[in-house]
Amino acid sequence: MGSSKMRLAVVGTGVAGAYLLNRLPSGVDAEAFEMRTEKNWYTVCAWGTSQPFITDLVKEAGFNFDDYVLHKGKRMLVDLGDEEVEIPLRGLVTYDKHRLTEDMLKGKKVHWGAQIKGPNGNLQGFDQVVDATGLHRSLLPKVEEDLVIPSFEVQVKSKELPYDDFVIKPYPGLTGYWWYFPLGDGMAHVGAGDLLGRYRGEMDEFVKKYHCEVVRRIGRPVRVTPPKLMEPFFDGKVVGVGESIGTVYPMLGEGIIPSMQCVNLFVDHIGDVEGYRKAVLDHYAIYAKVYEFIKAKVEGRFSLMKMWPTLLSVFMHMRRNTTRYGLETRPGDFYKIVTRM
Ligand SMILES: Cc1cc2nc3c(=O)[nH]c(=O)nc-3n(C[C@H](O)[C@H](O)[C@H](O)COP(=O)(O)OP(=O)(O)OC[C@H]3O[C@@H](n4cnc5c(N)ncnc54)[C@H](O)[C@@H]3O)c2cc1C
Repeated sequence: MGSSKMRLAVVGTGVAGAYLLNRLPSGVDAEAFEMRTEKNWYTVCAWGTSQPFITDLVKEAGFNFDDYVLHKGKRMLVDLGDEEVEIPLRGLVTYDKHRLTEDMLKGKKVHWGAQIKGPNGNLQGFDQVVDATGLHRSLLPKVEEDLVIPSFEVQVKSKELPYDDFVIKPYPGLTGYWWYFPLGDGMAHVGAGDLLGRYRGEMDEFVKKYHCEVVRRIGRPVRVTPPKLMEPFFDGKVVGVGESIGTVYPMLGEGIIPSMQCVNLFVDHIGDVEGYRKAVLDHYAIYAKVYEFIKAKVEGRFSLMKMWPTLLSVFMHMRRNTTRYGLETRPGDFYKIVTRM
């Protein structure tokens, strides 16, 4: 007798795919396909997130987030060039994202070194196929307007690291920012994402100046196109989840929590793609506003007069969501960062 369980293929074992494998109801049988071999698989990211917010999401998957925390931030220095702004942190931490994601894959059926190509991925016998391939969006149709920010990062170790907490330096025009995220134990992620790629050479300079051992060099672009512009979210049996459909907060290039939230929306609407589509568009509506602002900035057509309603809603969103972002958004700091740069 055949099983009456739904068969689900999850393509991509980044944060979205791995989290999804731990959030499925018992009526679903899932198998994952990851293009990297188990040995070469790595979670490219700076590993920053909001502890008070992600803790519950991680708990829902049966894990204890505290076990993975590396550094608890107190303040984030924003270097504006001629002025420094200190943002009080309310839960921003770095955590060992690689180890947690790896733990989420333990005991799951994963086909390593299996690169799946669209459409539908030629995966036979599955009722539904999830495109959790992040930036690649390998199974869903490409979209016309897709803004991806090139980025590069080094994981460093040194006894001479110059900072003891989070630091960011936005590039003029807000086309991206340079970051320093402490990982504890004399380690840090130093990286940058910038549309104009102005970070070239900066990481090497840092490594040289502070006599760092480079543990790892990593880099891939990050998608900042919001879900509103990433439709379709489904195509035949394929449904997109995570960065493949644009769940990255464009102002920060932050996609861990948003990808997990997207997984939960998917799970809440299993078998109801239209319900899922509506829930995604609704949940990430603010991302489209942030994107509008970022786009105007990078294209040099930002006008405070014209954009203040958009900016106000973005500010109010961040102000109301201190726990979600793990930092306090104060009017003066916000105004300085968005208008001065
Ligand atoms: C340099 C950098 C720093 C970042 N820092 C932060 C941060 O500090 N905090 C934060 O919240 N967010 C950060 N982000 C964003 C965040 O990492 C991503 O948005 C998030 O990981 C997206 O998760 P995902 O599972 O959708 O995609 P991914 O994590 O990209 O996972 C996709 C997986 O799919 C696999 N894959 C791709 N194509 C195929 C295929 N055809 N077949 C099979 N497998 C495939 C890939 O190998 C990968 O394992 C950062 C991003 C970058 C690039």
